[in-house]
Amino acid sequence: MTDLKKAGATLTIDLGALAKNYSILSDQLPSAGLASVVKANAYGLGVKEAAPALQAAGCSTFFVATLEEGSELRQILPEARIYVFHGVLPGTAKELLAHNLIPILNSRDQIEQWQAHADQPAGLHLDTGMSRLGLTPAECEQSAPDLAKFNIDLVMSHLACAEDQDHPKNVEQVALFNELRSSIKAKYASLAASSGIFLGPDYQFDLCRAGVSLYGVNPTPGKVNQMAQVIRLQAKILQLRSVDTPQTVGYGATHQASKPTKIATLAIGYADGYMRSLSNSGIVYIGDFEVPVVGRISMDLTTVDVTGVPEDMLHMGALVDLIGPNNPVDQIADQAGTIGYEILTSLGHRFDRHYISDEA
Ligand SMILES: *Cc1c(COP(=O)(O)O)cnc(C)c1O
Repeated sequence: MTDLKKAGATLTIDLGALAKNYSILSDQLPSAGLASVVKANAYGLGVKEAAPALQAAGCSTFFVATLEEGSELRQILPEARIYVFHGVLPGTAKELLAHNLIPILNSRDQIEQWQAHADQPAGLHLDTGMSRLGLTPAECEQSAPDLAKFNIDLVMSHLACAEDQDHPKNVEQVALFNELRSSIKAKYASLAASSGIFLGPDYQFDLCRAGVSLYGVNPTPGKVNQMAQVIRLQAKILQLRSVDTPQTVGYGATHQASKPTKIATLAIGYADGYMRSLSNSGIVYIGDFEVPVVGRISMDLTTVDVTGVPEDMLHMGALVDLIGPNNPVDQIADQAGTIGYEILTSLGHRFDRHYISDEA
C-alpha cells in the first residue's frame, strides 16, 4: 500500500488517462483493431494494474516480449489474446501452448521449432527494413511452401522511421510488406505501432500495436501531443541550505555558486530512474516555479537551485515535480538526451507507487 509518509518520492499512475489514451488511439482507426503492448512490465508502469485497465477500456489483444511476461499476463488476464514478440526459443513450445500464448515466429529456426505444433495459431514476422527480427524477403520466399501447413493467424512487420511522417522508408516498408504478405496465408495483418497509427489507413491493416503512446508519450514528435499524461513523479525536499561563492555543489564540484543561492536536496536519484544525464540540465517544478538541477545527480539525491521560489513553498517534505503537468515525459527525455521509452522503463522501484483512476 501507499505510504506517503515514509516514501521519499511518489509515482502516481493515472489508469483513467491510460484508458482515455486507448480510446484516443482507437478513434484513429476506422476499421483496424487496437492491441496493447505491455512488454517490460507495461513500460515500467506495472502490468498488473495497466493490463486490466486496458481490458476494461475495450482491449482484447496484447503483446509482450517474452514467454515469462506472457505467462505472467496470462494469470492477470485469463481470456485475452496474447502474442509473444520473441517467439519460440528452443524447448519452449510446450510452455507457450500451456499458457495459451501465441508466438511470433521470427526466423527459419523458429518455424522449425514450431513445426510439431503447426496446427496451433502462430504469428509470423516479416523483416521489411529493420534487420533485427523477422524473415528476410529471400527467407519468406523459401518458407512460403512450408508455411502453407501452418496456422498463421497474424502476419506482421515493424516500421523503422514511423515517427517521421515524411520519411521515404515508410512507403518502402509498407510496399514491401504488402508484397511479402501476398505469399503467406494469414488471418490478420499488422504493421503499425504507436507512431505508425498516425501514418493513416494504408498503414493500419487489421491490427495496430500501441505501446508508448498508451503511456502518454507523444507518438507524433514535433506535433502537439494528443495523448493524456499518465504519470506524475514527485520527490520530497530533504534539506535546504544556503551557499555562496566559492562553494560548490555535489560530486566533481561541477556547479559553483556565483552569488548567494538556496539549494534544496531532493530524496531521489539515478537509482530511481531520475537519470544522471540530467545533472546540471534537468528542470523540476515547485508549483509553477521552474527550478534547475544544479550539480551532479547522485544515486539517491538530487540538488536543485530554489533561489527564485517563495519562502513559504520551501520546507522539508514539500513535494517537487520531476515529471508532471509542467514537465511531461517527452520533455524530461529531451533534457536527459534520450527518448520517452527509456524514461518510463527506467523508473525505479524504491519510491511509493500509487494508482488513481480519475475517469470513472
Ligand atoms: C515495442 C513494440 C511495439 C510497440 O511500439 P510503440 O512504439 O511503443 O508503440 C510494437 N511492435 C513491436 C514489434 C514492438 O517491439
